[in-house]
Amino acid sequence: MFMLEKLKEYARTPAVALVNGEESLSYRELDARSDAFAAWLRENCGEDRSPVVIYGEKETGFLCCLLGALKSGRAYVPVDRAVPPDRAARIAAEVSPRVIVDFGGFAPEGDALVLDAGAVGEILAQDAPPAPREGWVSGEDVVYILFTSGSTGQPKGVPITADNLESFCRGVLPWYPREEGGVVLHQISYSFDVSGCAVYVGLSRGMTLFTVDKEMTREYSRLFEALGSSGLTLWASTPSFAELCVQSERFREELLPELGEFLFCGEVLTHTLCDALAERFPRARVVNTYGPTEATVLVTAAEITPEMRRNSRSIPIGRPIEGALLRLVDGEGREVPGEDAPGELHILGPSVGPGYFGRPDLTEKAFYTDPSGLRGYRTGDLCCRRDGLYYYQGRIDNQLKLSGFRVEVEDVEQNLQKLPNVARAAVVPVWEGEKVGYLAAFLLLQEPDGLTPLKRAIRMKKEAARFLPGYMIPRKILVVESFPLNVNGKIDKKELARRLEEGTP
Ligand code: AMP
Repeated sequence: MFMLEKLKEYARTPAVALVNGEESLSYRELDARSDAFAAWLRENCGEDRSPVVIYGEKETGFLCCLLGALKSGRAYVPVDRAVPPDRAARIAAEVSPRVIVDFGGFAPEGDALVLDAGAVGEILAQDAPPAPREGWVSGEDVVYILFTSGSTGQPKGVPITADNLESFCRGVLPWYPREEGGVVLHQISYSFDVSGCAVYVGLSRGMTLFTVDKEMTREYSRLFEALGSSGLTLWASTPSFAELCVQSERFREELLPELGEFLFCGEVLTHTLCDALAERFPRARVVNTYGPTEATVLVTAAEITPEMRRNSRSIPIGRPIEGALLRLVDGEGREVPGEDAPGELHILGPSVGPGYFGRPDLTEKAFYTDPSGLRGYRTGDLCCRRDGLYYYQGRIDNQLKLSGFRVEVEDVEQNLQKLPNVARAAVVPVWEGEKVGYLAAFLLLQEPDGLTPLKRAIRMKKEAARFLPGYMIPRKILVVESFPLNVNGKIDKKELARRLEEGTP
């Protein structure tokens, strides 16, 4: 794998690979520690090549373990600590790992060997010979399996291969600073593929990954103190994180004088944010990119020009990067003709992954191989095209983005229905401008609970946290005596949204 090769190359220089609070790791140390983990996996797992589940957040060891897994020829499954143990256990059950690394908070049951932070620390400190190159993941080997929200209430696994990642890295390179080195923001969770902009591209460019963890983002003073000392040259994040920062006047060029570029991905980039950044960081370019996990991080990109900002159209998601072929398709599977005609976006090419883990039924619905042999993926995104630029226009299903996180409404509903006394749940997104601001849940109870709305909401949210990560828990929880139905006899969510707006649920 190209990134692992580059890691070896930079390991011969004094370059710093990772800064994480007070800790920092040189490329040499990162290379050695990941070799140590690879050696441990080889010794303890033998021929068992099942993926290594890593549960945690931004621990320094997380990066060492995931690279070690790859050097031992194993995939990894990153699960962020925001995912409650119950859901993490369901993810682990899908991939039947031999080894689970638990940086704290998971405590899984079952047959897997569980390594806690202390055990991992000891393994990473061992001297080990370099992992043999012929044993590294390569070609069609799976590198990671990311679990995203699934409409059945069970997260679905998206495996991505080494070839998929090589294609992504090659295609995105023209959007990176020309010179090697520099410092890239490392804020996105490992369990979200946009983190690959730092991990896969950053490390193959000799960049320093500057870690920002959740704890830091809770307090502006800590966050800006950290950013101020970062020397960041490339900002890679979801727009949501930059929106959070922009709320403070301190977030401007003076704080990050070396910053040359904002690279956004994962959700709608608004005019408001582009305008704010143009004013606060007049010398940094802003690049919007787009892509689903299933097609490896991102497949389009465009630098946002002043003209695009002035234009009343939405901010474009860009043109296809090298290697990606895009098609806009109508309901009958025909390509839509002409400028501005909306269609479902299909992505074709080497970055399209093999399908859903252990789910041939879902794979068949969303993936295909076209007559020329190219792998294709139906994104479910409605887009149109003008002058070669693509514009995102929404979804054709109930998937949405909440603060940058991908959420299937049905996933939230299914998990709310697991709560005691809940007979049925319907969840509606509440829009704030161009983005979903929060979720509201309407619940039909099995029997009256005698609680005040406030007490009930607090209790339900607490119970929901057993099954759902915080960002998926509806902000508003309301009880209905019956659901309004539409002409098809289904719950009329438009009516629920209308009642919510009027304050008459
Ligand atoms: P994920 O798999 O979490 O990366 O989410 C992929 C989905 O996020 C896409 O299918 C889109 O619906 C949405 N998305 C990603 N990038 C953008 C963007 N730049 N603008 C609008 N929506 C986006």
